[in-house]
Amino acid sequence: MDVSYILDELNDAQRDAVTADSTGTLVLAGAGSGKTRVLVHRIAWKIKVEGLSTHSIMAVTFTNKAAKEMRGRIESLLGSSLNHGMWVGTFHGLAHRLLKAHAQEAGLPNNFQILDSDDQLRQLKRIHRELALDDSRWPPRQSQYFINGHKDEGRRAAHIDDFGGDIYLTTMLKVYRRYEEICRQQGVIDFAELLLRALELWRDNPAILDHYQQRFKHVLVDEFQDTNAVQYAWLRLLASKGMAMTAVGDDDQSIYGWRGARIENIQQFSKDIENTHVVRLEQNYRSTATILKAANALIANNSQRLGKELWTEDGDGDKISLFAAFNEQDEARFLTDRIAELVRDDYRRSDIGVLYRSNAQSRILEEYLIRAGLPYRIYGGQRFYDRLEIKNALAYMRIVELRDDDTAIERVINTPTRGIGTRTVEILREYAREHQTSLWRASLAIIENGLLPARAGNALRGFLALVEDLAEQCRDKPLDEQINIAIDRSGLLAFHEKEKGEKGQARVENLHELITAAAAFEPEDEDIEPLRAFLDRAALDAGDQQADEHEDSVQLMTLHSAKGLEFPAVFIVGVEENLFPHKMSMEDPERLEEERRLAYVGITRAEQKLFLSYAESRRLHGQESFNSLSRFIREIPNELIDEVRINNTVSRPSSYAQSGATTAQQASAAAMGISLGQHVLHSIFGAGVVLSFEGQGASARVQVNFEDEGSKWLVLQYANLQIL
Ligand code: ATP
Ligand code: MG
Repeated sequence: MDVSYILDELNDAQRDAVTADSTGTLVLAGAGSGKTRVLVHRIAWKIKVEGLSTHSIMAVTFTNKAAKEMRGRIESLLGSSLNHGMWVGTFHGLAHRLLKAHAQEAGLPNNFQILDSDDQLRQLKRIHRELALDDSRWPPRQSQYFINGHKDEGRRAAHIDDFGGDIYLTTMLKVYRRYEEICRQQGVIDFAELLLRALELWRDNPAILDHYQQRFKHVLVDEFQDTNAVQYAWLRLLASKGMAMTAVGDDDQSIYGWRGARIENIQQFSKDIENTHVVRLEQNYRSTATILKAANALIANNSQRLGKELWTEDGDGDKISLFAAFNEQDEARFLTDRIAELVRDDYRRSDIGVLYRSNAQSRILEEYLIRAGLPYRIYGGQRFYDRLEIKNALAYMRIVELRDDDTAIERVINTPTRGIGTRTVEILREYAREHQTSLWRASLAIIENGLLPARAGNALRGFLALVEDLAEQCRDKPLDEQINIAIDRSGLLAFHEKEKGEKGQARVENLHELITAAAAFEPEDEDIEPLRAFLDRAALDAGDQQADEHEDSVQLMTLHSAKGLEFPAVFIVGVEENLFPHKMSMEDPERLEEERRLAYVGITRAEQKLFLSYAESRRLHGQESFNSLSRFIREIPNELIDEVRINNTVSRPSSYAQSGATTAQQASAAAMGISLGQHVLHSIFGAGVVLSFEGQGASARVQVNFEDEGSKWLVLQYANLQIL
């Protein structure tokens, strides 16, 4: 059998990594050097040449999407389809699969549910209320951070010593304990718990561990620099009897320190596994020399590095463009203009990645992209499964599936409104707490015992009947029909249809889209009931699944979710001090280095073109700020950068609106040769800068910030502004 093709299109170092027969193999290499490619080819090699069965391989990726891609690439190398025997997925996905198979031994009900971070926060809010903690002194988010932080390190409440009376610790522990208790009662499990539970399962059940140790012969991990303590401990446990393990990673791309990831795991790996074969890859196949030089220069400013330099055979390519926008609107306009240009130049929209530091930055970009008619997707963001109406619809399905799901009940007991007031819900909670039972059972008991006033009792009875009716109707129906029934009978659809404006419209569309998603859903594991599998998938995918995967669309995402991806053209917006680096990390040298690594990740996503932009003034979360250019950009050598000046943009034809102005408003202003950020001279008020527009035609007005007179609104046609 000729298998040399597996080694074609690999350089010598990559081949070495692919074919190594060492127990421990560590590929330590910079961005775009082929680490992920090496993993894929190594798996194909193990199967084709060494005869390993797909059943005996486990591969860990950073996102569910990456897992899907990896599967596809392995299949195309093997020329045959992989069955589900091969475990490819994220740590969370694999832990979930494991716990599903051994729910009982893990101390979980068979139909345990995943609690996402919103649900978790809501649960904690309830606990704070129950413990009479004042939110202003004890924000529930703080508890969430405390609990997840400890779980990531493998610590349960019982493991933490409160050192006799420290009020902070005592309180947090009280919350943590109560939270553990409630999760257990409800049979729900949060993200950090998935991992911890999977670790404990193996640790406490030698027979189960042994089964998996027999089964798996090789485990491979991508993005190894971002594994946390529990994840690494889990891998170590599995591999403790000498199973082969391959890890690929880049210390310069470790960006999840704030979530418990440990760069040190890289060094630990070579210590833990004897005779680890270390391979370094230095040739980059992704980016132009210019982009690579910029990335190298930037990351050289970090002190804690294992140290490596990337090179490429590729030419210099274009310079990096840096755009100084007047404000965030101007920046969004620059972005859409340039994207439209790229599309005219035959770039596919999906070839374009738009990266930002904070989620909230996407809103304005989305607005401009929509107006410009440029389809986009938010990758890894809160787009579809995190939307309110989707969560509500799924909550109904969760209750249909499991009546004791208190989180879901709380969410929709009065959504859409059906006369169940907060007072009633409080009575339910109280009863449930006292009798150590679920809200559903509490409701039944309360109605039975006539503990509610007639009207409230009727409303509650209505809800219980609705759920039972849904369950009845949904029985034995295909998944999409079940969703259809649920959104219709629950009244959710009608509720949003009545909502005015685009928002209601969008929510209705989303609900319809959920039916589409259900229709297209293919469960990975045939043994799990489809609805259950769908709900779990939705919870796991909230991070990285999209509504319309197939349309060619511009890819928007945070810098964090861009890890591992690549695009011919990349925009990084908001390269400003306080925003990037984030103001929370500017004081702490270690966190600043992590921010720099994030910048390194961002820059190295680009293959051919890189655009950077910053705004001199920015309105974000309702606040205006004035920031200077990010230090990270100042660390890039000048000669690699081509600065686009604001005034150049004035003459550039633009079909996009500015500052909330319509195209017509824009046109009247443009006819006068005026654009946002334009320096102008007025015969009475002197020199100033254009801030915004309003109205059109004869009533078009312009707001100018005059140097001496401050900001003024002027009727455009009389203002007689001179352009400077
Ligand atoms: P990151 O650190 O960003 O995750 P990586 O090290 O995983 O990057 P890959 O994504 O595997 O890098 O590879 C980067 C790009 O280079 C991909 O498009 C890949 O197909 C290509 N590539 C890798 N090795 C080679 C090679 N030997 N010949 C041609 N192209 C290659
Ligand atoms: Mg990679």
